[in-house]
Amino acid sequence: MNDTLKVAVIGGGPGGYAAAFLAADLGMQVTLIDPETNPGGVCLYRGCIPSKALLHVAKLVEEARQAKNWGVEFAEPKIDLARLRSFKEGVVKKLTGGLGQLSKQRKVNYIQGQAGFENSNTLKISRDGGGDETQRFDRIIIATGSRPAAIPAFAIGSARVLDSTGALALADVPRSLLVVGGGYIGLELGTVYAALGTRVSVVEMLPGLLPGADRDLVAPLHRRMSGIFENILLSTTVASLKEEAAGICVTFDGANLKEREVVFEKVLVSVGRKPNSEIPGLANTKVEIGQGGFIQVNKQLQTADPAIYAIGDVVGEPMLAHKASHEGRTAVEHMAGHKVAFEPNAIPAVVFTDPEIAWCGLTQTQAENQSREVAVAKFPWGASGRAMTLDRTEGMTKLIIDPQTERVLGVGIVGVGAGELIAEGVLAVEMAALASDVKLSIHPHPTLSETVMEAAEVFFGQSTHVYRPK
Ligand code: FAD
Repeated sequence: MNDTLKVAVIGGGPGGYAAAFLAADLGMQVTLIDPETNPGGVCLYRGCIPSKALLHVAKLVEEARQAKNWGVEFAEPKIDLARLRSFKEGVVKKLTGGLGQLSKQRKVNYIQGQAGFENSNTLKISRDGGGDETQRFDRIIIATGSRPAAIPAFAIGSARVLDSTGALALADVPRSLLVVGGGYIGLELGTVYAALGTRVSVVEMLPGLLPGADRDLVAPLHRRMSGIFENILLSTTVASLKEEAAGICVTFDGANLKEREVVFEKVLVSVGRKPNSEIPGLANTKVEIGQGGFIQVNKQLQTADPAIYAIGDVVGEPMLAHKASHEGRTAVEHMAGHKVAFEPNAIPAVVFTDPEIAWCGLTQTQAENQSREVAVAKFPWGASGRAMTLDRTEGMTKLIIDPQTERVLGVGIVGVGAGELIAEGVLAVEMAALASDVKLSIHPHPTLSETVMEAAEVFFGQSTHVYRPK
């Protein structure tokens, strides 16, 4: 390894800071550039972390409501919005401050500012608060992330039309909110606002919520959300938005609409994310940009320019924090001369709604699209003692198994805590576990993790808690 390698990382999100920290640990001289006071990126400042802090509170509110079924009745919650906001902001501040500390401890030169390219090895850095400088580096990692996709027709210049960043700011609790887009970000934020007392509707142009997830995983979530959200409009598009005194007048387009025009106090546009690949001076390098604006990289995260790597949301789907971090570490290991490739079998996806949905590896939908023969073993949570004690039996755990080798190719879970449970699926898929390995591994009782083991028992027709007639 060349221990004097001078490396710059543009962007301090989970991709960028993970790369910068590992590069420093490996003895490289590292500069990390980001506009925020501390590293963190979208994930910590306006993504994963603030949304999960609010979803934690939403879950508490929902459980408190449900508690009357268990003989404990609470009054309707009083929401102190300022305090809730400060809880969320406190979490962000603590975590980003911690990253700032870790950055200093590793002697990473953190520059608060923006970077652009003069050429493949030279960056022009504009420091926040004034001052431009150019610096030469041996290697540069682009980790500039992504931003909410905007629909030009919805840019009506109204403060009532929010993107995810605006929704997370929690300026108020509107009486009504339309979420445009039935993807995970819209559903998570819709869940938060519904718990705080907003009447939430969702509109999705495709025939189902969470396109991309297996339908049997989405069904229990859809059922529960139908009780929490005022309206879920599928196969419906938003034709126009118009600001009026009472709110935003939304015109819908779709086959089975009861009302074509509805006024909402606020509208959250959550229709996907766009890569931040319009970096100043990038044209002075050999970096190539492909479809959808994503920077093109190989399995070592190298761009077409030998001095430049790119990682995270800016290089493509899935746009997830853990994928960004792992790509960052792979890029740095490659720079250090290690023989590495980013070729995971399982990048887990989690939707932090209630119930949660999580999957990893091969999905049933992918297997069908590839006409790949698989066995699917499902364990219904109605047969789980732990799910029963939680009064949440709507869940389901399934294993996607290669019928010839009996290897676990994928895992899908819907139910409370699915986001934590999926980690076992990741390990099983990455370690090429067989269904019998999962079946023979003793799981603690009573836990939801038993549903993974029992799904493997279902595959062999021998589940203790599911009777299969001979
Ligand atoms: P980012 O986190 O986008 O960071 C890029 C950084 O680069 C930013 O700070 C940006 O300001 C900076 N930058 C851009 N251009 C320049 C420049 N020229 N010079 C200097 N700096 C620059 N993912 C999950 O895995 N789990 C979740 O639960 C989850 N929830 C989410 C919830 C919401 C509401 C949103 C919006 C996203 C969520 N995500 C989640 C996605 C996750 O935030 C992203 O996948 C992740 O942040 C991508 O990391 P990154 O390092 O590629 O870039």
